[in-house]
Parts: sequence; C-alpha cells; structure tokens
Amino acid sequence: MKVLVVGSGGREHALVWKISQSPKVNETFCAPGSAGIAETAEPVNIAPDEIERLADYAEKKKIDLTVVGPELALTLGITDLFESRGLRIFGPNKAAAQLEGSKAFAKEILRENHIPTASFGTFANATLAKQYLAQQQPPYVIKADGLAAGKGVLICAKREQAEAAIDDLIVRKSFGAAGERVIVEEFLEGEEASFMVLTDGDHILPLASSQDHKRVFDNDQGPNTGGMGAYSPAPVVTSAMTERIIDEILKPLLTGLKNRGLHYRGLVYVGLMVTKDGPKVLEFNTRFGDPECQPIMMRLKSDLVPLLEATIDGNLDRVQPEWYDDAAICVVLCAQGYPGTYETGKEIHGLDKLKNWNKGFVFHAGTAHDHGRWLTSGGRVLGVTAHSGSIAQAVKEVYQAADQITWDGIHYRKDIARRALKQV
Ligand code: AMP
Repeated sequence: MKVLVVGSGGREHALVWKISQSPKVNETFCAPGSAGIAETAEPVNIAPDEIERLADYAEKKKIDLTVVGPELALTLGITDLFESRGLRIFGPNKAAAQLEGSKAFAKEILRENHIPTASFGTFANATLAKQYLAQQQPPYVIKADGLAAGKGVLICAKREQAEAAIDDLIVRKSFGAAGERVIVEEFLEGEEASFMVLTDGDHILPLASSQDHKRVFDNDQGPNTGGMGAYSPAPVVTSAMTERIIDEILKPLLTGLKNRGLHYRGLVYVGLMVTKDGPKVLEFNTRFGDPECQPIMMRLKSDLVPLLEATIDGNLDRVQPEWYDDAAICVVLCAQGYPGTYETGKEIHGLDKLKNWNKGFVFHAGTAHDHGRWLTSGGRVLGVTAHSGSIAQAVKEVYQAADQITWDGIHYRKDIARRALKQV
C-alpha cells in the first residue's frame, strides 16, 4: 500500500512513524512533511490547504490511503474532494468537521442533545456579549468561534479583562473571521483529560486515554499553547469514566450528528473537564491531538492502518486494537518566546545521542536540516517521547533524554505528567 499523511508537525511524524511500521504499507509519503519526517516518509511539497493539488498528487501517485493531520484541510473539504474522485481518505467531511471548525456549532449540538458542557452564550455583537458577561461569575471564559490553532480561548480573572478580550475578538478582529462570533462560557473546575475515539458514524472505538498540558510554563502558568506535552494513560479516565464518556457524550453526539444529516467518519477528540458532577465537554476536535498522538501511537501495539480502514469502511465493530500495558510521555521542546514570537535557525545539539535510544523516539515538530546540522524551524521543535512500565519510570526516561538536547533558548516544561503521578 501507498499511504500519504497530510501535515508537518509532531503529530504527523508520529503517524508516519506508526504507519510505516505496518506490514501492509510499502511506501509512505508526507505533504509537506519536514526534515525529520523525511527520514521515514518521502516529502511532498504541497501545503495541507492546497487540497486540489493534494488530490491530483494522490491520483497520479496511486495513493491507496490518505490520512489527514491538521483540521484546516478537513474544514476546507479535503475529504469531500478526495471521495468525489474515488480516493480513500481518513477524516470527516466538511460538514462534519464543523464540530471543530465552529465552537458555536459544537455548542449547539451539545445543547440540542443534552450533552454535559459549560453553560454559554454565543454573540456576534460586543455589547450583547458584555451584557451576558455581567450576569456571569468570574473567572470568565471567552472563546473565538473559529479555528485559532489552540490559542483562541481566554480565561480572565477580572471582568475588564474579559470585556477587553471580547473587544479584541469582535471589534479589533485579532483572530480575523475566527473571532467574528465569540462564546462566553461558564468556567468549569476539575481535572482535564482528552478522550479520542475512532468512529464510522455507527460504532465507537476508544483509543488509549491521554492528557495534554496546554499552558507554556510549569504549574499551568502562562498563556495557552498548541500543547507542551502529554501522557497516556490518564489515570482520571477510569473504566467507569470511559463508560460515562461513551454513554453521556459520544452516543448522543453521534445521534445528534445523524439527526442533522451528518455522517461522521474519522476521529473524534473530546476535550473534557472531569468535574464533581461528572465529565463535561470543553471542546471537540476532528483529528488526532498534538502532542497526544505521540504517546498514543507509542502505546498502540496493533497495526494502525486496519483501524483507519475500518473507520472508512464502516467496519469498526470488527476490529479490536491491542495496547502496550505501559505508560508513554511526550515532552515538547520549544523555542524561546513560543507561543509568542520566536526565532528560528538555532542549531540543535544532542540529537545524535538519541539516535539509538531504545526507550522512545524523538518526533520532529519544527526542524530543518542544513549541511548535516539540525536547526530549529518552528515554535514547537521536538517531541521527545518515552514509554516505560509506569508513569514514574517514563517520566524519568523522558527527562533523561530531553536533557541531552540543547540549543540557544530551548525551553520545556519540567512537570509533564506530575499530576498523573499524584493520582496513581
Ligand atoms: P479549548 O480549546 O476549548 O479546549 O480550551 C483550551 C483550554 O482552555 C482547555 O484545555 C482548558 O484548559 C481551558 N478551558 C476552556 N474552556 C474552559 C471552561 N469552560 N472552564 C475552564 N477551563 C476552560
């Protein structure tokens, strides 16, 4: 089989790493890929939003399966286009991808189907949003409706800050069209967790549980990022909790989507707050989480490709993945300044020491290769991912490895999985 992965980050490196191990696959491609990914998959110089060019390429190269990493391609309708040309692709179609593409749409589905979530109001008018805000209790949660690379959520302790955030989004359009509508939401207290499932629209196949760390600094300080690290399993997602998430969230979600005439096939990522009243939905994503994908791929014992194919073919009831009974942790090494402005082109040292590392793998999220040297080329640069018998052991392994890598301005959190350690 020939498989094409769309995207270029750490998530796509993890997908390529896993897919290329499949006995069914003899060639793996990645568009556009990265210098790191190029060690495993042939790079294809097409951006994820150039969906026509991607379809032309898949047709010409006779690609048997395309796997979409980033949400943008899905909301642009890459799946509809590929399917109209008879090409097999993993990911929901454009209408179903609105579940991530519009937080207002997701909130409507949640409300219509009585799925537990924070109470909320949706506004395109700043004055009305502020009137609603005045009736809420702090802290205030303000969200941009559209895609904002994980950075469109503001949690404000003071009302003035929340009002400024509303003005920023609606009046000053700091997130462009993505902030034309805002959601003002109740603040939920509890333990966060991510729960990813494959679904063919009828059946639900849970993947291993995981948890990411969104804030840039230790102890959840500083602004939100795309994700600073992740671990799997997440102890807060017990088997009883898994049942509740499926019964109270995922089954009504699929019914609600069907009632709207949407046939969802792909991955559903549920961002959860486990509150004292049970699991509540913070957000939905329509693709693998990044960095959660890295530890999850490391813990997946089975071949990923048949699982993706069963999702497309509506046969998910016929597959049962096997998992390694261990723990995996990904620590994201970042450039100084991320998630704000940062410099690129810094020489990375120490990668050679981890070439034959037998406790994990270093996934590349933003690197370039230049005359035998590795350089930084993004805000999130590397995802050092280890697996071991326990979370405590995996923490030790992952930081021993991460500490071997250096560059000018390197920054990473030192407390990934610390909360999980307290729970086990
Ligand atoms: P989202 O992209 O909607 O998942 O939001 C990003 C992050 O903001 C989440 O991972 C939470 O840490 C936080 N967050 C979002 N919504 C809420 C809420 N209603 N209450 C508390 N924290 C929230």
